[in-house]
Amino acid sequence: MPARLIRGTEIREQILEEISAEVAQIKRIYGIVPGLVTILVGKNPASISYVTMKVKTANRLGFREIQDNLPESVSQEDLLAHIQKYNQEDSIHGILVQLPLPHHIDEKKVINAIDPDKDVDGFHPINMGRLMIGGSEIKFPPCTPAGIREMIIRAGVETNGAEVVVVGRSTIVGKPIAIMMLQKERGGNATVTVVHTGTKDLASHCRRADILIVAAGVPGLVKPDWIKPGACVVDVGVNKVGEMISEKTGKKVAILKGDVDFDAAKEVAGWITPVPGGVGPMTITMLMKNTLNALKFKMGII
Ligand code: NAP
Repeated sequence: MPARLIRGTEIREQILEEISAEVAQIKRIYGIVPGLVTILVGKNPASISYVTMKVKTANRLGFREIQDNLPESVSQEDLLAHIQKYNQEDSIHGILVQLPLPHHIDEKKVINAIDPDKDVDGFHPINMGRLMIGGSEIKFPPCTPAGIREMIIRAGVETNGAEVVVVGRSTIVGKPIAIMMLQKERGGNATVTVVHTGTKDLASHCRRADILIVAAGVPGLVKPDWIKPGACVVDVGVNKVGEMISEKTGKKVAILKGDVDFDAAKEVAGWITPVPGGVGPMTITMLMKNTLNALKFKMGII
């Protein structure tokens, strides 16, 4: 039987409705809404597209949204000054600096300058540390891993005692999702293995996985015979493998493929996330959830 699809597009709608209802309730009771600033440096088309989607989603939810577009030539000092200003602004609860930044700017310094209590991307070392400790210490889990975990929970996949194999050890996906699946809490308590380019016999590790999370950035890396029958396969990879003309708009669009050979894998797996339409839509969704939570933490209602 082909795998059940875990569609990020559907789960996104459920979560956005939940956020929207909470925003309306907080506004009604306290007269305040979550405030999010998105800082974009330069004109990288992918970054513009991400920021546009974030702004659109924030507006749809009734957030106060400020878009701060800075020129490519902005100095590090100026960028840090902008962040300081938003750190101090009471009506801003979340600060997002769209990455990557131009080469003359030190990304680490920028991330570290964000008030950890407004760091809705969850990349500040303090929030990474909170994630490591787990439980009520966690404030802002990084958005993509948080989205992956949410998808697994909402699909009803059992994580308790499951063998989880994570392919990839990046700071934004692989390492944090491994930590999350390991925590002794709902949607976790799994036995976790992280594999990477230094791993001997990648396939044998993947074959043990009840839940296989792949974030390598290599199209079609995971073959169907690497998948345990009935396993849950979460494909995080987004790889541009070509271009085509969209039937809807008549414009050129990217052809995207995941890190898993989807057509063959869906015949073996129990659950699988498609690309596009799987993990992708969850990242912005969880950013919105973190921003709402930033307000709730500040108000002491969480
Ligand atoms: P990254 O920083 O490049 O890390 C890739 C990881 O995969 C590294 O740890 C690397 O190992 C490992 N790896 C690469 N090739 C491998 C191979 N052949 N065998 C075993 N391990 C291998 O990438 P990332 O930022 O985590 O992103 C991974 C993918 O997810 C990309 O396609 C990206 O576009 C996508 N992504 C999607 C979303 C979303 O949908 N919202 C968000 C973030 C990322 P080493 O450490 O040994 O080099």
